[in-house]
Amino acid sequence: MIRILFLVILCCQFLIISSQSIRPSEYCGTSKSCQKKMLENAALDPIVHQDHQTTIYLPLQVHNVGDDGGKYYFDIVGVYDALCRVNKDFEPTGVQFFLESEINYIGKTSWNNHPDYSDGEDMMHQNNFSNRINCYLVANPAGNCGYYTYSGDAIALSKNCISPSQHTWAHELGHYFSLPHTFFGWEGLTYDSKKTTSDWQKDVFTEIEDLSKSNCNQQADNFCDTPPDYLSYRWNCNSRNVSGVTQTDIHGNYFNSDGTLFMSYSNDGCSSRFSNEQNQKMLSNIENRRRYLTRPDVKPVFIEEDSFANLLPLDSAILPHKKLIFSWDSVENAKQYIFKIARSKNMKFELQTIITSTNFISIDTLVPGRTYYWSMRAVNDFDFCGIQTKLFTLQTKSITDLGQSQSIDEISVYPNPVQIDQSIRVTFGKKLVENISLYNLSGIKVDLGNKITREEQFAKVQLVNIPKGIYFLHVNTSTGKTIKKLIIQ
Ligand SMILES: [Zn+2]
Repeated sequence: MIRILFLVILCCQFLIISSQSIRPSEYCGTSKSCQKKMLENAALDPIVHQDHQTTIYLPLQVHNVGDDGGKYYFDIVGVYDALCRVNKDFEPTGVQFFLESEINYIGKTSWNNHPDYSDGEDMMHQNNFSNRINCYLVANPAGNCGYYTYSGDAIALSKNCISPSQHTWAHELGHYFSLPHTFFGWEGLTYDSKKTTSDWQKDVFTEIEDLSKSNCNQQADNFCDTPPDYLSYRWNCNSRNVSGVTQTDIHGNYFNSDGTLFMSYSNDGCSSRFSNEQNQKMLSNIENRRRYLTRPDVKPVFIEEDSFANLLPLDSAILPHKKLIFSWDSVENAKQYIFKIARSKNMKFELQTIITSTNFISIDTLVPGRTYYWSMRAVNDFDFCGIQTKLFTLQTKSITDLGQSQSIDEISVYPNPVQIDQSIRVTFGKKLVENISLYNLSGIKVDLGNKITREEQFAKVQLVNIPKGIYFLHVNTSTGKTIKKLIIQ
């Protein structure tokens, strides 16, 4: 049997080796033996009754795997989006994940595309961080959307299966915390109602679950609140979230599989939950076997609603298309900012996504005479979903408008670099300047007090008692903001 499996894997290897974007042929590759061990171990663990007042925060280590040349890594914004989904999926369980250290980038083609589980396990053995939930994002996790293995004690996930609408990561974490499939026993078999269920029993390697619940804690996944399910292939649910395929239990009773459970093979649009018993079993696994993951002293930080202030340009601004600056006040607890700009309101056709830790960005990719839609999001290592601004619009000036206004609107700073304790002159021509402010490299505002003297077409700024360094001078005008780099030496 092992030899046959090896041959199958070898065949697949030749089919998919050349492609970087590999569509998984199977949903989950967590083996039968792994799941059997989960059940055996779980049976020994005392049940833990969770105090739902306290959320358990567990450290998750993301390993972003690319090729030998350091290409084909999973997009960092995609990592935040996927983790946002995972924490939403786990929210009702009382378990949440956070990043205890930075994403680990690994450039190795034979791990990124590993048709063979042994290469994946080799990757895990060599790269796992101790006392973390190690998750590897790869192009090809042995032909699956994902898998968990006991030997590697880590999860491998296909970059094709972790979009914000997919639940593969939650499913594999379920395995990580000892949950088998709801259809456990049927892996590798294709249920057909023409064959009687008593005939199936010799092929199914657990006791087939029936509707009576009289022996449910010995059947399939051993949970009594996950109903019978014989479907070991990906299936879609109907409007009632159950399978279209009707199955017959050993006593001749009909049923349809519950599509809402993450541990079934229902499509992503159907699944949304773990059952209570599954939840309890995961908590018991954490308490008994994975206590090393718990961080009782961790202080989670979140970003508050409406935290964005002084975002510029203002909504509906009309601006030149070149060297556009977007700026905002630093948001408390934010680690990174995600800026998105698109041509359409639904943000489907994004022109540019920028992730930054500074509080401004500059873009130079727009064309004149167009309407654009943009938004900002602040995230951190606990708050992966973060806080998102509303959708802003901006219009770029048409080419004819630009010809008339560009030369007289130019803002300039002189001298730059400037000697310490000296003054600069900010010339703004016919622009209406609302205010001038100075920020250091950490985004902290430097108090200029009453050191700005305004004239009609320029302002004089005395830089007294400001240390040497690189600064950003923000000049707010009626049409937007200009940011100039200023060096004090
Ligand atoms: Zn699975």
